[in-house]
Amino acid sequence: MENATIQALELRRPDLRFPFPEGLGQIAGGKRILGLGRRAKFLTMDFDDGHVLVSHLGMSGSYRVERPEGSHAPGEFHFAKGTAKAHDHMVFHLLQNDRPLRVIYNDPRRFGYVQLVERRLFNDHPSFAHLGPEPIGNALTANILAARFAGRKTPIKSALLDQRNIAGLGNIYVCEALWRARISPKRQAGTLVTKSGRARAPLERLIVAIVDVIAEAIEAGGSSLRDHRQTDGTLGYFQHRFSVYDREEHACPRSKCGGTVRRIVQSGRSTFYCPRCQS
Ligand SMILES: [Zn+2]
Repeated sequence: MENATIQALELRRPDLRFPFPEGLGQIAGGKRILGLGRRAKFLTMDFDDGHVLVSHLGMSGSYRVERPEGSHAPGEFHFAKGTAKAHDHMVFHLLQNDRPLRVIYNDPRRFGYVQLVERRLFNDHPSFAHLGPEPIGNALTANILAARFAGRKTPIKSALLDQRNIAGLGNIYVCEALWRARISPKRQAGTLVTKSGRARAPLERLIVAIVDVIAEAIEAGGSSLRDHRQTDGTLGYFQHRFSVYDREEHACPRSKCGGTVRRIVQSGRSTFYCPRCQS
């Protein structure tokens, strides 16, 4: 989509989870897309007039790319993506290097939404002002999390899902990162911090685990972007890399652990972990 011009933005219904922004179709029409980005779980699309279209996929949203020679759907998803055309709700009609390109947002459950924000006001917008550091990049350090976790009795699982502490981690990646770092999801966040406010060793391990899990997930999505083979949107290969997520009653894959993966519910979300090697 980068450097493409929006010939028309077609909205096929008045809303997703929330109403589409007022005048979105008119504002987007004729604009050039300068670049795509991401902040936390939001996709961002910068227009050449200073507006940013922000897209959140919710539970079931996905994008599909259609060219005259065929279509593909980037990324690998653990849960099957929607393919029914009845759920195509937003269509970008684009022109890129004089070639037509359509990018279609499909969302069967319509928990996704879009917002229109001015780039100069982006960091002060209520959706973004209180976000913690990104998990990849140099901003995330063990001592930054130590400062946020000090004295907190919240379970570490919930603290990691809280986007004010760290931005962009979802349920799957939190479960996987805690398993890799051998930390129980029930452990109080404050116990990962020394009395003087420094990160303890498990928190240092956790930072490494988070970065690795996210990097591998991006790599998995990127591989499908390159070869376009799995266009059916069903279970991609990243799911086969999960160690604990959605693997209740399976053997813990850690060498010589011998434990069994359990599922518990924390703050209304499923947590998968190994009680034997995570403490
Ligand atoms: Zn284990």
